[in-house]
Amino acid sequence: MSKTFNNKKIRVVSMMLCTLICIAVCILVSACNPKKTREQDSSPCYDISAEYDAETATLSASQEILYTAQADSDYAVLHVYANAFSKDNNLINILLLQIDRQTVDCEIYGEDKTLLKVNFSFKENDTYIISCKYTVNVPRSDTRLGVTEDGIVNLTCFYPVLARYDGGWLEDCYSQFGDPFFSDVSSFYVSLTVDENMNVASSGETVSNEIRYVNGKYKRTVEISAEYIRDFGMAAGQFRSLSESVRLGDRDVNVNYCYYSDDNPTASLERAVSSLTVFSQTFGDYSHSSFTVVQSNLATAGGMEYGSFVLVSPNPSIESYLDTITHETAHQWWYDAVGSDQLNSAWLDEGLTEFCTYYYHYLSGNRAAHTAAMSEISRAYSSFSALKPTVGFDGRMNRHLSTYLTEGEYVAVTYYKGALLFDTLRTLVGDEKFQAALSRYYKDNMLKIANEQSLCSAFKTQGYDVDSIISGWTNDTAII
Ligand SMILES: [Zn+2]
Repeated sequence: MSKTFNNKKIRVVSMMLCTLICIAVCILVSACNPKKTREQDSSPCYDISAEYDAETATLSASQEILYTAQADSDYAVLHVYANAFSKDNNLINILLLQIDRQTVDCEIYGEDKTLLKVNFSFKENDTYIISCKYTVNVPRSDTRLGVTEDGIVNLTCFYPVLARYDGGWLEDCYSQFGDPFFSDVSSFYVSLTVDENMNVASSGETVSNEIRYVNGKYKRTVEISAEYIRDFGMAAGQFRSLSESVRLGDRDVNVNYCYYSDDNPTASLERAVSSLTVFSQTFGDYSHSSFTVVQSNLATAGGMEYGSFVLVSPNPSIESYLDTITHETAHQWWYDAVGSDQLNSAWLDEGLTEFCTYYYHYLSGNRAAHTAAMSEISRAYSSFSALKPTVGFDGRMNRHLSTYLTEGEYVAVTYYKGALLFDTLRTLVGDEKFQAALSRYYKDNMLKIANEQSLCSAFKTQGYDVDSIISGWTNDTAII
């Protein structure tokens, strides 16, 4: 998107002018960039202005979404994931909701109160400004949205985000297993104000970082631009940072590593840089001009991916910590650039990403590490699948997150079995064709939503019909 279409411009347009002028701006911007795809042309833009109060752990925000309706509809659905992070499902408080300056009825619903229905008559291909003001009570917990025990504030899942529309609104609630997100690419222009002593790291690029004296206090305001990503994430806290620029394809990528407890931060930064480099060379160039890794506690995960931004949880095992950095980096290909249904086919991004975590070592010349990891994964999966007759273990891979009995079953089916499937495909077709197929999968599905068929099609371009092999694994009819 044009550099001139930044958050300040959106805010000025939306606050001072009418919807028609916004539409004209979109048309103008589209016309200025003829290389944009249809997915990019119609992708939503989020303009978020937020202030975080560290004393009360409260985020106050105003937000505007430039939204082009994909079909006629009497309502729109947004996810308010913030409510998933407390037992009472009441962390977000919507103070005002308007469409094109008209206040409209809205309702928070769903068993965990993570859905927001906005009643309004939308017309296909018309563009609207959905505005809202809200506060979020950030819980004190080591979660995706939370003030962690170590003082880092994880600010992801805080904003109301449009649900996907695919012939109807997809109204999935949050899930405690896996990553219950299924997003189209969007662009985010975010302003965050925090106490002066807090640093901010985020998706995208920092446009400005200024300290001002406001109401008797020094405050830091960071302006961020993050274009064409699946989900926006940021973190604030008293961390240190290292940066390095690396040339990937035809662009310089600024790689940042933010940490508060790391005996060898240079090694962590270097792992992020080398992972980006190896995956760029193998599958196709990284699609953004920045990548930020932030160390922050997540109680139930080693890390979490967002567009051009990841969280990694401290780990006493240095090898595991570095592999988590590689894993979350691989998600920039399989999740961020190539989207997939993470609720119903989680293996498609997690299985491939887990495979890539160890394929990184293979590609870096340490084939023994890859072999050892795949053997370990195979043993782990076997121990789960052996439970089938007794606890009803279900090895089918295309099923909703809510159908998994335990976190262990979810990990075994999506991560372990998924990684084993990709390693089997690699063994069958050879490294060269395998890499060519995944490069094609990346290129053909960038900024789109891929599925099992997209993967099969990519292998067909290399002369391999792997449909029945993949479906045998995903339907759990193949003997592994
Ligand atoms: Zn993952």
